[in-house]
Amino acid sequence: MITGEFDLIAKIRRQAGTGPEQRLGIGDDCSLLEIPTGFDLLTSTDLLLEAIHFNLEWTDLSCLGHKAVAVNVSDIAAMGGRARCLYLGLGLPEYFEEAQVESFMRGFAAALQEYGVFLAGGDTCRSADSLTLAVTVQGLCPTGRCITRSGAQPGDDLWVSGTLGDSALALQRLKAGISLTPFLAKRHFRPCARAELGKNLGDLGLATAMLDLSDGLAGDLRHLVHASGVGARIEQRQLPQSADFAAAVRQRPDLIELALVGGEDYELLFAAQVADRANLKRLSATLQLPLTRIGAICSGADIVLVTDEGVERELELGGFDHFASAADVTRG
Ligand code: ADP
Ligand code: MG
Repeated sequence: MITGEFDLIAKIRRQAGTGPEQRLGIGDDCSLLEIPTGFDLLTSTDLLLEAIHFNLEWTDLSCLGHKAVAVNVSDIAAMGGRARCLYLGLGLPEYFEEAQVESFMRGFAAALQEYGVFLAGGDTCRSADSLTLAVTVQGLCPTGRCITRSGAQPGDDLWVSGTLGDSALALQRLKAGISLTPFLAKRHFRPCARAELGKNLGDLGLATAMLDLSDGLAGDLRHLVHASGVGARIEQRQLPQSADFAAAVRQRPDLIELALVGGEDYELLFAAQVADRANLKRLSATLQLPLTRIGAICSGADIVLVTDEGVERELELGGFDHFASAADVTRG
């Protein structure tokens, strides 16, 4: 049980870091940040709720702290911006021990360092019976350069970073009681935000529309095409697979579906002009991050998947929908 809220905040403060934009951080009624001339401010919030987003039986708290930062940094990257600071709302249940908060903060602080961001404030409160985390992130992008979901045009290529389905494959294995390879464990419990890629795509103006993959390719692509008023055609054989994922699919071909509907990959999905293919190849080499062209944007409103057999099928709405399956704890 935690007794001293102020001691706890003092400990959090020591791990908060700082940045050139920070005038006032933790300790006053508000934080005060300077927005550098020539930049716009991006802000986003994510809730992480016990029994909905994570299960404390499976989840290491330090990994959860790390992930809480990464998923927020990912949202800023998805707009072509650079994350700068975070705010942490903590709702702590009675049974929670101070050592558990420390473990969470260890991962949180490590991720702050990894992504070059700082903790500018938050709120701490007792919660009824489950751990509640609310993380807000703020980031910067050059004025007028942010990449929304709505700019894709027919004829654009559709690209994705990294590999697909790893996190969902890990979850499927956890549920089946199968131990994870270190690669799959990392993809699931300590996802990596594509911070450098997002910022570079924004700075170089290389993406016409973008989002990060949190709900699965099928569902998230639907958001992008709806917002842009276009359709898309993707090729199954182009979907990028990790070695671990490909090995699992060789054993059980139906698992390929996880590359389409599996959530929490935190890769970036973006549309880009055909004329920028060489620029994107160069960026991929510079960042040492695979970028794969998985299809194209078309007119209309449908998403068509070309299967390995060359059959075209319309992609049903997939991905994780909280309100469709709110009682199902499906995420690690
Ligand atoms: P207030 O009563 O104004 O909400 P608090 O006593 O809750 O102030 O918080 C004091 C300071 O500590 C504020 O600057 C707030 O941003 C910061 N703070 C509180 N909880 C957290 C937290 N979990 N993470 C980071 N900063 C926090
Ligand atoms: Mg407060």
